Amino acid sequence: MEFDVIIIGMGISGISAAIYAKNSGLHVLMLEKDVPGGLLNRINKINNYPGYAEISGPDLSYQLFESVQKLNIPYKKAVVKEIIVKNNVKKVITDIETFTCKNIILATGRVNNRLGLENEEELVGKGISTCALCDGNLYKGKEIAVVGGGNSALEEALYLANIVKKVYLIHRRDTFKAEKNLIDEIKRKENIEILLNSNVTKLIKVEDKLDKIVINNNKELNISALFTYVGFVPNSRFVKNLNIVDEEGYIEVDSCYETKIKGIYAVGDSIKKEIYQLITAANDGVVASISIIKKTKNK
Ligand SMILES: Cc1cc2nc3c(=O)[nH]c(=O)nc-3n(C[C@H](O)[C@H](O)[C@H](O)COP(=O)(O)OP(=O)(O)OC[C@H]3O[C@@H](n4cnc5c(N)ncnc54)[C@H](O)[C@@H]3O)c2cc1C
Repeated sequence: MEFDVIIIGMGISGISAAIYAKNSGLHVLMLEKDVPGGLLNRINKINNYPGYAEISGPDLSYQLFESVQKLNIPYKKAVVKEIIVKNNVKKVITDIETFTCKNIILATGRVNNRLGLENEEELVGKGISTCALCDGNLYKGKEIAVVGGGNSALEEALYLANIVKKVYLIHRRDTFKAEKNLIDEIKRKENIEILLNSNVTKLIKVEDKLDKIVINNNKELNISALFTYVGFVPNSRFVKNLNIVDEEGYIEVDSCYETKIKGIYAVGDSIKKEIYQLITAANDGVVASISIIKKTKNK
């Protein structure tokens, strides 16, 4: 069976694309390696998505999944390993089976970067985290640190400050690059100590758990957890063979979100763009989907 379009990733960009494709009668399949909703499942509070004065990420994720179910959009849990394009036929190779289709929308998002320190990988889940909503409650009443200077780091620091005893907010530069309202809120929070011009230089473990960190090679902080928000890596390794990514791994697309390979599109956080937000991710998915719909119907 050949699908009109396979959408890889069930975050907001992929689901937005799928809604339009299904409503226009295309034969569509969604593939997701984890749970529907993607990054949404890790966001505490959203107050900038039209239609919702305030909603939690998991609640919005659930609403999106309801649309998938209501519209009977087919989906499967599968990890996409590779895409092979031969004579205009596209094969999506996954851990469960291989699917064939005319068009593909890559909606695979991006993940947090690591600091690149010794012991870091083995301490993930044992004191190191990139998800305050998932792990914050484990550190109730404890002292923790957050690393980063952008919106994600500051949003997460604020969320954690309401749970833990104290947050050290560590940033390597002398100013934050987050939005002004977030910076103002951080400065007002009494249990957040800001450490600017500071780098985490060492992770010290005791019995396989994070015990201390060293800042700037000279200052030790006794903390129970370290939450890191130091940039992102796009989930695009599985399309490396197609030669459609830039040097940072972001997928390169034109104004219709099509890559240089005809029929392969990319949307959302996995592409290089100015604004990485829910509404822009949804927009990308819709534009790519409509482009495929028009081409399919005009044939
Ligand atoms: C802490 C934080 C707070 C944020 N707060 C806001 C906010 O308040 N407002 C706002 O507008 N935006 C916010 N954002 C940004 C917003 O969450 C993202 O821009 C948006 O969710 C991206 O959606 P996406 O569909 O592109 O990717 P994702 O939601 O990341 O979805 C990608 C999906 O692809 C799947 N996938 C990846 N690789 C594969 C594979 N090989 N095979 C199968 N499936 C795969 C993943 O499992 C995932 O489910 C925030 C981001 C963060 C990190």
